[in-house]
Amino acid sequence: MSRTITKTDWHPASWQRMPAAQQASYPDQPALDRAVADLSRLPPIVTSWEVDALKDHISKAQRGEAFVLQGGDCAETFDECTSENIVAKLKILLQMSLVMLYGLKKPVVRVGRMAGQYAKPRSADTETRAGNSLPSFRGDLVNRSSFTAADRIPDPQMILRGYERAALTLNFVRSLIDGGFADLHHPEYWDLGWVGHSAMADEYHEIVKSISNSLDFLETISGEAVHKTQRADIYAAHEGLHLLYEQSQTRYLDRRERWYNLTTHFPWIGMRTAAMDGAHVEYFRGIANPMGIKIGPGMTGEWLQDLISVLNPNNEPGRLTLIHRFGSKAIEECLPDMITAVRETGSPVLWVCDPMHGNTESTADGTKTRRFDNIVSELELAFRVHESMGSYLGGVHLELTGENVTECTGGARGLTDGDLARAYKSTVDPRLNYEQAMEVAMRIAGLHHANAKISRKKT
Ligand code: PEP
Ligand code: MN
Repeated sequence: MSRTITKTDWHPASWQRMPAAQQASYPDQPALDRAVADLSRLPPIVTSWEVDALKDHISKAQRGEAFVLQGGDCAETFDECTSENIVAKLKILLQMSLVMLYGLKKPVVRVGRMAGQYAKPRSADTETRAGNSLPSFRGDLVNRSSFTAADRIPDPQMILRGYERAALTLNFVRSLIDGGFADLHHPEYWDLGWVGHSAMADEYHEIVKSISNSLDFLETISGEAVHKTQRADIYAAHEGLHLLYEQSQTRYLDRRERWYNLTTHFPWIGMRTAAMDGAHVEYFRGIANPMGIKIGPGMTGEWLQDLISVLNPNNEPGRLTLIHRFGSKAIEECLPDMITAVRETGSPVLWVCDPMHGNTESTADGTKTRRFDNIVSELELAFRVHESMGSYLGGVHLELTGENVTECTGGARGLTDGDLARAYKSTVDPRLNYEQAMEVAMRIAGLHHANAKISRKKT
């Protein structure tokens, strides 16, 4: 068993007693206080019913009865809060989940990195260009990306603008789903207009046809509809980084006798903010939401056991998801010790592989990219290591977009470093494009193999 850590006196602002990594310094304290007070009065973005429903889905995935697909941008931006972008993200998540459902023969729980993924951790507090140093860009929730002194000053009003964008995003997603957009009978709604001919899309349409035939068959013989559309069929997740934002929407629900973070269904603790004595762990331990912890090569077995004992002291099912991101080179060495350490705690956890963040590299001209082969290799190794240890890999966490970008190299079209400049839109980490994301989904579903190359054609 891990060491017992006793902590008491939690409240939504108790994290303020601890060192808080990755927080912005706001020069105008009264303006910040006003923004936090405003946000604290506004209605929640999600409800505790939805949060608890997701926890229940995650506990099923922990038992091997479901698979979790988490995906979306590295960072959402206020500018990209548009109908087209939201629909494209929804479509790619729905298409991938359909492929995975078909191949894995298990329910797929869809969780978007969306509706609040606006704050980013940074490796340095300042950025220097041509001898001029300014505060780093920390995401649209904090300041603006353009390199001017005025734009880089953390602006408290952006907390409110972020809350509004998150609410607008989720409102649109919910309306689409309630209106029948996610209905399995109409997968044609999910086609992306720009895709046109692509072997991935062809493969996908074959699967859709086969599912439609099975649905028709089952409904004919049973006389009932097989699939009912459900509210909150797509859950929202973001890194719980900006603690004043998270705190402001943390509410005590008498009915449940627990505190909930109602900015999102599923917040996660990033790699840089998981210190045991840090503010993030203090904040997260008090909320009832299911939560993720990112685990990289710096994590030790003892540290992970301590995190589990503080974040899930009662071994509650559905509560903890461990998102490992070791990189394809380190996973075989690092993951087994983590699985052993977790086992000793007795806590159920959901293991999810993030094959993106451990495989980031720079091209000769300094462009941040990820190689498709490394992403797929880490995923395959993750499945293999878990299986060999009698553990279950129950999900995947990806940075992806439904748009036609060129940010990661490789994949069926064999994108090279030279292709990156063509459509590189991310201001932070590189994302899988539509075809690369579908190929990952097909690999997970066991439907597509490395040698099935698409003839190289420029998009
Ligand atoms: C991220 O998910 O974008 C991120 C910053 O990840 P990590 O904390 O794993 O580095
Ligand atoms: Mn990222």
